[in-house]
Amino acid sequence: MEPITAIATGLSATKTGLDLINALLKRSKTANLKAADYEEALRQLHDNLWEAKRSLQVVDEENQKLRRQVQSIEIDRAIKDDMQWQEDGGFWIRKSEAEKGVCIRYCATCFGEKGQLIPLAEAMTQGMFTCPNHDGSAFLTNAYRDREEERKRKALADENAFTIMRGPNSWMR
Ligand SMILES: [Zn+2]
Repeated sequence: MEPITAIATGLSATKTGLDLINALLKRSKTANLKAADYEEALRQLHDNLWEAKRSLQVVDEENQKLRRQVQSIEIDRAIKDDMQWQEDGGFWIRKSEAEKGVCIRYCATCFGEKGQLIPLAEAMTQGMFTCPNHDGSAFLTNAYRDREEERKRKALADENAFTIMRGPNSWMR
């Protein structure tokens, strides 16, 4: 039974039952009703009550299902409201956690695709973060890029210093 149909069915069964009682009370005043008449009325009432009960169960199940859905939507919304985008690194953090001084970085891909909150792990290199669900893709912060630049600059400087030290005619020495 569809929940919408169940509401109509339940209401209709209840009304039929009440009408039945009213009609029986009215008849009992004028006519001399026999036990069989009451038995027949009770049997019909039983059927109506049973129908109403069954309908209420369907509606109750639907109500519980909808409550769970609403709850899940509310939780999702609360989480979305709590998320704060970090341009530097391209990941999410939670406002509520940041306020408490907790810094957990969440994977942008996992949150974007499935709404999952997957904490990123800091790689061996400081400022680089990886998602356990996405091997190979890394989240790089400016701190990481600055250090990389610095490392390259230093490597280049060392190389130049080495060349100068040896000199262009060093093979002759
Ligand atoms: Zn991920």
